[in-house]
Amino acid sequence: MLLLMVMAYNGTNLLDPFVGERTIIVIAFVGIGGISFAWLWFAFRCPECRDNIGKYVLMTADAGKWLRVLILINSCPYCKKKLMRKTVSDDR
Ligand SMILES: [Zn+2]
Repeated sequence: MLLLMVMAYNGTNLLDPFVGERTIIVIAFVGIGGISFAWLWFAFRCPECRDNIGKYVLMTADAGKWLRVLILINSCPYCKKKLMRKTVSDDR
């Protein structure tokens, strides 16, 4: 994706000459969005039951609240176990 964006900005288009630069940029951004979504989907797993917390949040919370919910969630929605979280008070 980054390579596509660099190609688009430099005006070099190794793909179909009928595909415009803007199309490549749009494809690159959609790809980045998709990769971010997939990362959220797969990256957050419960350490106890190994269930997919990211997927649960993406499917239940509003799109604008995903990050907030992921940050604030403190127990697994599947097994209800407390999630280990490093807090400021742990450092004292
Ligand atoms: Zn769990």
